[in-house]
Amino acid sequence: MARGNPMPVPWGQGKDGMGMALLVVALGGNALLRAGERGTAAEQARHLDEVAPALAALVLGGHRLVLTHGNGPQVGNLLIQQEEAVRLVPPMPLDVCGAETQGLIGYLIQSRLWGALRAAGSDVPVVTVVTQVLVSETDPAFRNPTKPVGPFFSPERARGFMVERNWLMREDAGRGWRRIVPSPEPLRILELDAVRALVEAGAVVVCAGGGGVPVCERQGRLEGCEAVIDKDLASALLAADLGADRLVILTDVERVAIRYGRPDEERLDRVPVSRLRRFQAEGHFPPGSMGPKVEAACRFVERTGREAVIGHLDDAARAAEGVAGTVVVPEEE
Ligand code: ADP
Ligand code: MG
Repeated sequence: MARGNPMPVPWGQGKDGMGMALLVVALGGNALLRAGERGTAAEQARHLDEVAPALAALVLGGHRLVLTHGNGPQVGNLLIQQEEAVRLVPPMPLDVCGAETQGLIGYLIQSRLWGALRAAGSDVPVVTVVTQVLVSETDPAFRNPTKPVGPFFSPERARGFMVERNWLMREDAGRGWRRIVPSPEPLRILELDAVRALVEAGAVVVCAGGGGVPVCERQGRLEGCEAVIDKDLASALLAADLGADRLVILTDVERVAIRYGRPDEERLDRVPVSRLRRFQAEGHFPPGSMGPKVEAACRFVERTGREAVIGHLDDAARAAEGVAGTVVVPEEE
């Protein structure tokens, strides 16, 4: 084992075993960009520098780490570049743009975490895996697209896209016309064995970025889909299939709340999954934001009997230990 690195610990030991060995940590949008920023590489590197020491400390503390991340603003900017340069170079389809953002963000994470690990005395490698995620052609989401992607367009340009590219476009609250794509269920992480092998070899792995590139299988071939998979749902699938000890979803609120934003709001601390499911059924978690995180946490806990945490990026280290954020636990304690 290389200098400064902890002894490898088998994972999947749960609470009673040799400690929490494998963490899947999903980084929310605020790990890379904040409201009002333009999306420069320097901005994103700076935000990653803020969280990298906490991630490095987890590695030094003996955890194996698999990182996932969102890509909304990054793929949005890339789609603008496709359309603005359409007379010069061919625009790439959504699946290819998604793969490009996995490389972009993966590279930035590799770069910033490398520095934090070296500063902490570790030479653990950080590796990005461009990840494809299998979806079903018959997923009902393909008949009911819900996810807005990319820039806002004038009604004239929107009409052009609808006719020439067969895009579904929708008017978005007076801000212009936006493309809407399906958000199908993630079924299988195609690079799962490669990710596992890298983790076993001691690497920190960045994968399933932006939820992974959605692909369908047709007669033994893979075809990229014009769709977007939710990154938290993909992270839950990845974590369960890897046998991770804990799923940690880092976002920009300290805890999941019921009656969120109201004077009688209540922040949840440790919550049994059945209780969280009841709050979910009562409609406390909206689809575009907290909904998929709660669904992801519940799925992981129900499938594995282990804990999932939803917490603030600034509490990364403590959330990963299960002592900050909302900790979703298997049954009533
Ligand atoms: P990320 O980009 O970090 O993956 P989102 O921005 O999609 O996450 O979702 C996080 C947001 O969810 C928070 O900023 C918060 O405003 C919102 N939110 C909605 N409902 C709730 C709730 N019940 N409890 C906590 N936060 C909520
Ligand atoms: Mg966000």
